[in-house]
Amino acid sequence: MSDGDEFEIDPRAFLAPADGEPADHESARSSSAEGIASLERMERELIDVEDALVRLDEGRYGVCDACGAEILDARLAEHPTERRCEDHRTTDASTDAARGGSTGDSTSNP
Ligand SMILES: [Zn+2]
Repeated sequence: MSDGDEFEIDPRAFLAPADGEPADHESARSSSAEGIASLERMERELIDVEDALVRLDEGRYGVCDACGAEILDARLAEHPTERRCEDHRTTDASTDAARGGSTGDSTSNP
């Protein structure tokens, strides 16, 4: 009656690997690495937000770091911490949909 193995919780059960991946120690390590990666991403976003707040305070919010052009409102709505205009944005945007556009007339400053 002292055998409680059935009720013992295996921590690996919570590290559910993606379908098709072998449930060995290697995958357990990589899922915690994923957690760290997402934490690092969140930390970077937090830094971005703080940076945006500073720029907002200094009246530089929504202005391109590289050329001083105004960043589109639509872009800011989607990425409030954006600090580059369409032309100078080099973040890890895998989709380069803005390519081939013919909008290069934002030279007028108020
Ligand atoms: Zn720019």
